[in-house]
Amino acid sequence: TAALSIQNLQKTYENGFQALKGISFEVQPGDFFALLGPNGAGKSTTIGIICSLVRKTAGSVSIFGIDIDSDFPAAKRLLGVVPQEFNFSQFEKVFDIVATQGGFYGMPRKQAEERTEKYLKQLGLWDKRATQARMLSGGMKRRLMIARALIHEPKLLILDEPTAGVDIELRRSMWAFLEEINALGTTIILTTHYLEEAESLCRNIAIIDKGAIVENTSIKSLLKTL
Ligand code: ADP
Ligand code: ADP
Repeated sequence: TAALSIQNLQKTYENGFQALKGISFEVQPGDFFALLGPNGAGKSTTIGIICSLVRKTAGSVSIFGIDIDSDFPAAKRLLGVVPQEFNFSQFEKVFDIVATQGGFYGMPRKQAEERTEKYLKQLGLWDKRATQARMLSGGMKRRLMIARALIHEPKLLILDEPTAGVDIELRRSMWAFLEEINALGTTIILTTHYLEEAESLCRNIAIIDKGAIVENTSIKSLLKTL
């Protein structure tokens, strides 16, 4: 079974705008996959539907064979999502933001704290554990979002423009971290509008434009055609 299977996904917003015109693609387990496209192409809409924040108009989404319509809680346990906007409480402390998330998955407090420590250390945020989120730089907030998305050790991690607004040096260290997570077996999908980012990290790619998939291939064969 695919880690993610999207079939004929359509989205028309309330104002009548058709953001997704029936897209289909699959991501295999273990892959590092890029959904590449310009601003407005439909990337965030696609991710919003996968994590059930946006209601789809038609089509289906399954995660490791679990259709999100038939059992979203089961699908959600396998899924970690890092959305573009920072959606944690700005006045909460870094440690607590991550550890509390473990509770939402029914994790014992001790296990949540151990994993929080592990991921904050790996992401270079351990020194900031007692700091309120609002005091962090943009790049640190982005890493906080990643730590929080990993607390239940999802099999599929989806990141929406993870390095937007992150400087080049930090971008490289985030890339290295994501590669490590992928090497340990987590399937990763990221959206980006930088071909360079897709090229450095990903094995397979789908290119989306104006709500349609225009290319779905390996990075290697894509680069040959350019
Ligand atoms: P991307 O993430 O690739 O930049 P989005 O999925 O955010 O693209 O947006 C796709 C298109 O849908 C854009 O034209 C955007 O303006 C439009 N759109 C997004 N959200 C809404 C909404 N709530 N209502 C109407 N149109 C929307
Ligand atoms: P410091 O060692 O920096 O003084 P504190 O002990 O004051 O850190 O805790 C910092 C924050 O981290 C507090 O908000 C606390 O709730 C939270 N926290 C909870 N458990 C731990 C832990 N095992 N290690 C570090 N911080 C923790």
